[in-house]
Amino acid sequence: MATPALYRRFRTLLIANRGEIACRVIRTARAMGLRTVAVYSEADRDALHVAEADEAVLIGAPPARDSYLNIERVIAAARQSGAEAIHPGYGFLSESAEFAQACADAGLVFVGPTAAMITAMGSKSGSKELMEKAGVPLVPGFHGEAQDEATLAQAADKIGFPVLVKASAGGGGRGMRVVHTANELSAAIVSAKREAKAAFGDDRMLIEKFVTNPRHIEVQIVGDSHGNLVSLFERECTLQRRHQKVIEEAPSPTLNPAQRETVCAAARKAAGAVNYVGAGTIEFVSDGHDVFFIEMNTRLQVEHPVTELITGIDLVEWQLRVAFGEQLPRTQDQIKLNGHAIEARVYAENPQQNFMPSVGTIRTWRTPPESNGLRIDAGYRQGDQVSPYYDAMLAKVIAWAPSRDAAIDRLTRGLDDTDIRGIVTNTQFLSALLTHPDVRANAIDTGFIGRELARLTPPATEPGDLELCAAVAAILVEEAKVAQHEAPSPWRTAGWMPVGLRARTFAFRHGAAEHRVTLRYGSGPAQLDIDGRTFAFSTATRDDGGIDLTLDGARSAVVAVIVGHELYLRSRSGRFDLHWIDPFGGDDDEHVGEDRIVAPLPGTVVALLAEEGATLEKGAAILTLEVMKMEQTLRAPFAGVLTHLKCKVGDIVQEGVELAEIEPTPI
Ligand code: ADP
Ligand code: ADP
Ligand code: MG
Repeated sequence: MATPALYRRFRTLLIANRGEIACRVIRTARAMGLRTVAVYSEADRDALHVAEADEAVLIGAPPARDSYLNIERVIAAARQSGAEAIHPGYGFLSESAEFAQACADAGLVFVGPTAAMITAMGSKSGSKELMEKAGVPLVPGFHGEAQDEATLAQAADKIGFPVLVKASAGGGGRGMRVVHTANELSAAIVSAKREAKAAFGDDRMLIEKFVTNPRHIEVQIVGDSHGNLVSLFERECTLQRRHQKVIEEAPSPTLNPAQRETVCAAARKAAGAVNYVGAGTIEFVSDGHDVFFIEMNTRLQVEHPVTELITGIDLVEWQLRVAFGEQLPRTQDQIKLNGHAIEARVYAENPQQNFMPSVGTIRTWRTPPESNGLRIDAGYRQGDQVSPYYDAMLAKVIAWAPSRDAAIDRLTRGLDDTDIRGIVTNTQFLSALLTHPDVRANAIDTGFIGRELARLTPPATEPGDLELCAAVAAILVEEAKVAQHEAPSPWRTAGWMPVGLRARTFAFRHGAAEHRVTLRYGSGPAQLDIDGRTFAFSTATRDDGGIDLTLDGARSAVVAVIVGHELYLRSRSGRFDLHWIDPFGGDDDEHVGEDRIVAPLPGTVVALLAEEGATLEKGAAILTLEVMKMEQTLRAPFAGVLTHLKCKVGDIVQEGVELAEIEPTPI
């Protein structure tokens, strides 16, 4: 039997990924008339990518190694669903030569390069050797086989400090250490090796000159199986945190047209050296004058949309056409650069707590409409769970405009209108970055975020009078709505203004602080009292779902969403999550299960801060958990007695495991 061609026409595509990239691939595949098959883990039964595909196959338990990284299960899912091809997305199996080979062996088209090309470019050392031969400029460094300490130390001395110690198999910025002096070297190598071994099962290191004031510049390339290869301009991803990209743009605001042509030509040369097929990215680091090759990613990248917006090319469509065995749809001189695009990665993480991932239920999901140069690539929607098992990226907000300044303005506005609650996100951090004058002026390097962190992550502000009054207004609006649709309940209709009672007090919790607002209602206009300050108050609902609040004659627009007893407010001062302590509503629905203190993420108990039987104030510390190398203190959600402590120092606990029980003090 003849082996089927590696690249050939197919009708059913399996997407071996999750989140936004799975949704992104499905969108184009469907537009091209393909039938789409999703795969999912037990944690993702209700995930968006499963809902969007024509079919979906369960492939295993939540940990990625049991599902999204399990080659046999993914291939079996393709067989079971009749898929003829697999798109790997990014991350997971996308750069696994073993997986590309397994697809070929199973007679499936792998939407990407061949296993041999992935092997050639997958290791940073191997690819640097290839590039050296092809005459592509490299960062000065050592990428030889020898790994003994003496050889590495000698190499570092020869290169000259500062140097970067880097895992050859690395990715996502892991296994990398900047070393400033010779006596720091050996410790850095030991710790980088440990990290690389754990993350990639391979601890080989290379050493590079640490380029000063580094900027990250990369070139998108696509090749077909007929020997055509084009570059689609460059992206700049200099805004990074711990060597991971945060904001990306195209074209680079740093390069002039001559430099642009030089770097794109170098990228074509690099990819041409392996007769590359598929979409790929050649990454360079620049000192502001010259660019040096650092690595190639043999897959679609997270930030590919900025290239799509400046070229008008759908990169997933091109990937699929190449996988069909077609020629590239355009030649190099038919690819034109138009305008400027910039992307921000929206993560479920808490910038105030060292970017600790945030897990839980997405209570509200609001993103601006995709028009006027805005594009939203999302992997989640309202009601979805963000689990601790996978990367915490929720969505990408991408803006296009004729100029860089206008694109930044649009993205800033787009982020302001992106409001995702129930979990903590980095949207305000992203806005702070985009509005920083040095970002505007492109006066940045890859260390910028690290240096400016304090300014970019100001402490959360307490809600002011405007927000507290808005919270009351939102509750009144909500109650009026309920009253319209419900048979009159004695509390709803008379509850806030029974005969003779002209005051009603609202209590809100914001973090550990409590705030009270009293509504007074008499013959004249309504009034609100906060700590002895009195405001005349009126409210009107807006068409866009917001509230117009007039306090002492000054009107402001506030957006408020109520979910159970949680109030998600957005005002000119920012975003505020308030918990309404509702004496009449029993304040119970959000409290179900809340007398249990559970581990929010898998971690290790590192300290017990209260004793069994202790009477705790609301917000009192109970224990500290170390989660992903960061400490998180769990606190009493309300006043009560600590009836049980169910863990001890040193315990390794899974997500959702009960650690303590509290019996609330009766109100
Ligand atoms: P890129 O190189 O495409 O810009 P990064 O360098 O930020 O992406 O990410 C590096 C790796 O992190 C990706 O190759 C992937 O392994 C992982 N990753 C990032 N985001 C996600 C995600 N949403 N889902 C799965 N993996 C992800
Ligand atoms: P990864 O596989 O983790 O993406 P890279 O080699 O692409 O690893 O490096 C990640 C980031 O680290 C780059 O985007 C760049 O900002 C920075 N970096 C890499 N090599 C150097 C270098 N030699 N000098 C300065 N910065 C570097
Ligand atoms: Mg990289």
